[in-house]
Amino acid sequence: MNHTEKLYWADAQATSFETRGASLGAHAGKPSVVLAQTMFYPEGGGQLGDLGTLTLGPHVVRIADTQVEDGAIHHVIDGDLSPDVLELLRGGAAADVSVRGAVDESRRRDHMVQHTAQHALSRALANAARAGTVSARLGATSCTIDLDRPGLSDADLHRAEDLVNSVVMSDVPVVTSFPSPDELAKLDLRKQPNAEKSAAGVRVVSIEGFDVTPCGGTHCTRSGQIGQVRIVATEKYKGMLRITFHAGQRALGDARSRHDLLAKLAADLTCGPQDIPAAVAKLRAELKAMRDKLESARSEVADHVGRSLRDALPETPGPHVVPVMRLPGDLAGLRALAVELTKDPRIVALVAGHDEGSGEVVLVVQRGEGAKLDCGAFVQSQTKARGGRGGGRPERAEGRFPRGTSLEELTAAARESLAV
Ligand SMILES: [Zn+2]
Repeated sequence: MNHTEKLYWADAQATSFETRGASLGAHAGKPSVVLAQTMFYPEGGGQLGDLGTLTLGPHVVRIADTQVEDGAIHHVIDGDLSPDVLELLRGGAAADVSVRGAVDESRRRDHMVQHTAQHALSRALANAARAGTVSARLGATSCTIDLDRPGLSDADLHRAEDLVNSVVMSDVPVVTSFPSPDELAKLDLRKQPNAEKSAAGVRVVSIEGFDVTPCGGTHCTRSGQIGQVRIVATEKYKGMLRITFHAGQRALGDARSRHDLLAKLAADLTCGPQDIPAAVAKLRAELKAMRDKLESARSEVADHVGRSLRDALPETPGPHVVPVMRLPGDLAGLRALAVELTKDPRIVALVAGHDEGSGEVVLVVQRGEGAKLDCGAFVQSQTKARGGRGGGRPERAEGRFPRGTSLEELTAAARESLAV
């Protein structure tokens, strides 16, 4: 397959083109169209491949991806080519068919903005925070840069963010060139050239007065086109620091959605956005006070119910299985009552409640010191037999049983286990 001429190198702003001749190709098992020249940028250098349409004679073909293989750029089709197009590409007329290409323009412009922002931000991080870029990815919704250090202070990140935005506002030219080896040697390149070499030499992208780096991607022609650059997240990644950033329309969209979120939160809390932290702190304090009250009410109830049940027991030596159904099934409340009941060593407590969400029967089984039931084994055998789940220790166990499980039956089973 022949090398495809990269029209996007000469003019990254243009997104439509005309040429002649097309051939049938294949990339990763999918059919593709290969042309002598194209404006479609193939995935590479961290930038995604272009989408768009090719019009081959009378036929419009939708391009789902663009990839490069051995210098040939494949306009990849998602699915099968129509029989008409297949016939055209396989016939003798294909070599001279008229071709009109249209790259998805807003998507490509967005990629150019993110890509140019990445160059500028990588330089700003090097200059303002002494952090080198190891690699970068320009995704469909967010872009990341991996830095050669595990962390950066907020002050460093803000300095880099301020620096890159000042270069945006200076609106300096962004130019590409193919310097001679001598000229290249004199350039202060941010990274060394790798595979981005063509017959013309190393392609270099310069943000005037700020950054020079080898790159084969598509870029803005002036820094002002980048718009705002915002670092929106950082995370440690394999000993490096991964920075997520947005530029241009993405930065605006992100700021807008965060603003909307804050506004909604403020409306819910009936306060201004600036008062949200205080409102949340107040809610937290109230929640803690309510929890403390609930806890003391819970232990009061357990104490009261436990005592009256213990007092009602006959004087016989036992063991006594004591079932209690509580509504609703507040697990902490069930546990507290089981503790309270087993203060009498003769008692095996079966304290149950209904889960408010699922309707399942939640059961806490606890034995007093004088009772011999293995609670864990009992819960395990009962959940197995009735289609529930649970388990625990010989002294105490918990299980969940299907809705409608009868506490009387569980009580009978416990009494049977004790009688063996
Ligand atoms: Zn680039």
